[in-house]
Amino acid sequence: MPCWPIYARIHGPVVIVGFGSIGRATLPLLLRHIDCARGQITIIDPDDTHRDMAEQAGVRFQKVALTPENYRAVLTPLFQTSLEQGFLINLSVDVESAALIALCRELDTLYIDTVVEPWQGYYHNPELPMSARTNYALREFLLQQRRQQPDGPTAVSCCGANPGAVSWFVKQALLELAAMLDMETTVPATRAAWAQLMQRVGVKGVHIAERDTQRAGTQKPVGTFVNTWSVEGLISEGLQPAEIGWGTHEKNLPPMGRRHSKGCGAAIYLERPGAGTRVRSWTPASGAHHGFMITHNEAISIADYFTLRIGTRVAYRPTCCYAYHPSDATVLSLLEMAGADWQRQPEAHILGADEIVEGADYLGVLLYGHAKNAYWYGSQLTIAETRQLAPHQNATGLQVSSAVLAGIVWALENPRRGIVEADEMDFQRCLEIQKPYLGPMVGVTTDWSPLAARGQLFPEVIDTSDPWQFSNILVEDSVPESGPVKRTRPAADVVVRFPSRAAKARKATK
Ligand code: NAD
Repeated sequence: MPCWPIYARIHGPVVIVGFGSIGRATLPLLLRHIDCARGQITIIDPDDTHRDMAEQAGVRFQKVALTPENYRAVLTPLFQTSLEQGFLINLSVDVESAALIALCRELDTLYIDTVVEPWQGYYHNPELPMSARTNYALREFLLQQRRQQPDGPTAVSCCGANPGAVSWFVKQALLELAAMLDMETTVPATRAAWAQLMQRVGVKGVHIAERDTQRAGTQKPVGTFVNTWSVEGLISEGLQPAEIGWGTHEKNLPPMGRRHSKGCGAAIYLERPGAGTRVRSWTPASGAHHGFMITHNEAISIADYFTLRIGTRVAYRPTCCYAYHPSDATVLSLLEMAGADWQRQPEAHILGADEIVEGADYLGVLLYGHAKNAYWYGSQLTIAETRQLAPHQNATGLQVSSAVLAGIVWALENPRRGIVEADEMDFQRCLEIQKPYLGPMVGVTTDWSPLAARGQLFPEVIDTSDPWQFSNILVEDSVPESGPVKRTRPAADVVVRFPSRAAKARKATK
């Protein structure tokens, strides 16, 4: 029996909301590395399919769906059984993060989640303006909560693999790049110093470049959405507008690109779903790929964190987006759903560790546009290694649950920091805890660019003056450049609609 390091102790009650793929992946790591009494742990989930697993671990299970009406009544007594500080671990879908954080502040309870989640129905509400359905808006709401009450018990927002650990990867990658470029640097101590370093290194943008090659022995059945983590989560975020942290080197807004009229201004959104928007990217797994530009909190928080301001002027900001090539079965599921005009399949299935026959999750960050061209740094975790490291999870699950573990430990070590994002945590401490579960951490440079092999067989409008313009990265056939757009209601926060470069070029040649 291996001797696991115990990193910290939770004295009070622990409540895990949501016992899906990530909840079940996190419980064994929690029991392994955190000193807490099993009798103090309660799991809350309306689906009790996995009640046995919880009870065999000596943990209570309460079958209930948290709602805006009942969450206070359900959660408050669980934390009031003890005078010691407790921990709320939110790993659910459809439960509003902001509401739970506010309650934790009242109860002086620590908190962590892996996504800024709204209550059920929010993502799919056609009555809401599109800008309100963005992660930008959800994050801004939380930042406003923080401005109103800057201190209080630590509430770690968005601390899974991505959003979460990738923010730590970006910092590690940046330091490695600086060393490769023979720049003298120490680990920056402030947010502004990090932004200055990124500017000095010459990074134009960051992709969260992920290639998941895990596969089951059988084909995806027609009518079933298959994924390696939450199907609900992926469908919800896939049907939010595509979002991207918008860098200072970009020349034009993309087709259907919109700015927000309020908030930090670090990101824009496209008036189309991320599940139908693809970008060119690269991982060491299989080289170049088209990834789905599904909206993720880190695309906004990383762009915001590395923004350098001189007075009120934004002097530097990297572009940042998710470029996600999920498992092949998931790609087929997304295509099937797109073909049904985004009506979801009747069945959903998450691939468990026991049915995956091979593959790995290559999850990393691609820092591009600098003197070394592009640098990918990240985790290469195979399903075989995952099985040896931890029970009840696939490689994707372990990349997430180990980040949750790191976030829990950091919160216990820093219990009065108020609301924090992964970008603001001690990345070295967090990686120290997480790395044993990430497989090989690999950093590689590549000479790939979004202009590689372009325009050879068919004409394409490309910007050769700067390979790293988003217009070169965006797969244009996934985004209409012009033509009538059916609007059911006016879009809020519309600022300017720039014609794309392709449209301008066509006009110029007439
Ligand atoms: P899942 O779909 O497997 O599980 C979600 C669980 O939440 C289910 O068991 C469901 O019954 C439960 N639930 C639904 N409504 C609830 C309610 N009202 N009250 C309490 N529980 C409720 O999802 P998962 O793969 O375990 O993911 C959990 C969360 O983590 C999702 O929000 C997902 O988007 C997020 N996630 C984040 C990352 C990351 O890297 N940041 C990665 C994977 C998943």
